[in-house]
Amino acid sequence: MEKYRSIESKNSCTGNASDRSTSMSTVSQRSGANMPLIPGLNFSSTYEAPTAEELADRFQELLRGGRPFIYQRFGTPLIEMVEQALLEFEARSVESLLFRSGMAAISTAIQALVDPRLHPVIIHSEPLYGCTFEYLTTIAPKFGYEAVSLKTATFDEPFAKYGGRVGAFFVEHPSNPVISLFDLDAIFQLREQYFTVHGYRPPIIVDSTFMSPLFCHPHEHGADVVIHSVTKYLGGHSDILGGVVFTKEEALMAEIRRYRNVLGNLMDEMSSWLLLRSLETLELRVCAQASSALEVARFLADHPAVEKVLYPGLLTPGGDLGQHMIFQRTCDSPGSMISIYLKNPTRGAAFRVINATKVFRRAVSLGGTHSLIEHPASTTHAGVPEEVRIQSGITENLIRLSVGVEITSKLIMDLRQALLDLAA
Ligand code: PLP
Repeated sequence: MEKYRSIESKNSCTGNASDRSTSMSTVSQRSGANMPLIPGLNFSSTYEAPTAEELADRFQELLRGGRPFIYQRFGTPLIEMVEQALLEFEARSVESLLFRSGMAAISTAIQALVDPRLHPVIIHSEPLYGCTFEYLTTIAPKFGYEAVSLKTATFDEPFAKYGGRVGAFFVEHPSNPVISLFDLDAIFQLREQYFTVHGYRPPIIVDSTFMSPLFCHPHEHGADVVIHSVTKYLGGHSDILGGVVFTKEEALMAEIRRYRNVLGNLMDEMSSWLLLRSLETLELRVCAQASSALEVARFLADHPAVEKVLYPGLLTPGGDLGQHMIFQRTCDSPGSMISIYLKNPTRGAAFRVINATKVFRRAVSLGGTHSLIEHPASTTHAGVPEEVRIQSGITENLIRLSVGVEITSKLIMDLRQALLDLAA
């Protein structure tokens, strides 16, 4: 996908029409001539073989890293078809793997690629989605991992303090919920220096859920593994729970696939069928959402009750810690996630605004056709210790918005009336 020059054009999603027609036609071509346009569902948990020898052969193939159809936990024709279709959105990936949830994708990728007996330290960006933070800091340590935040460590610390113990770099780009952008190129440089000193390359794992696979391509900035919560933009209709892992290298993927086969956290058949439908409109949806979000963000930036709007489309050169430059380098659009700090610092004020919206629905999750509003400190990030929350900017006056596909003027009217009380 071509890089866009300005935020205005980044948001317009023009120039992508050919990509869209390719992806949509390839999805439907899979049905072939004289076949139903939409593939059927098959709930079979197991696959019959004509002979015992054939079944034994299939197991040998599985053990060699192949993908024979044996048993639902190891994969199904439909899931494989959807995984193929997903590759069109991450051109540099060799393979994509679907999981039962975004968290299943994250935890399985880490467990598959990082051996805590050898390299236990996972250097991570901060803030992170609440459950990712909880996994890295409270669950993974039980299995021997050690999570180190780049907020408290400096970029040089992986050399000095952790020596040859670094197992992976885990980065959320952009971060949930403050939509900060991470300098992926800097982490790649760091990893290359690390290789010079220690002789191995800890994988760089990037969760780019907030951008959807359309607007950010972390592989192009050195990421080995790219993860998305399918639950969000890819599913897009708030009716699928899922995750996807993309990698550039077959060897990494083979290991992640082996873990998925054994741990049993493959996406279910019905969700993968729904996902195939969702992929056909992915670009239409995310482009419409991003274009609406820019207008919503501009309205909020001018509102007297709003202290600050966090939205990549409003970044200016020379502002916040090189964020504009990172945005220009790593994103093709500002996306449709917006967070705001209210001037009134209290939770009560934030709740009043959230309770007053009529079009924005009060729910966690994001990226779907419905616009959603939530209070991160008391919901998605409630499990993050207060001091970490505050240090990451997840304060009581922070509200997170996911812009859907409703008419933009209705969304703005809704926020105007919800903020009225505080503007007075
Ligand atoms: N990554 C990010 C950035 C998220 O926001 C979420 C969920 O909100 C996840 C991962 C986890 O995805 P799931 O809810 O599909 O497990």
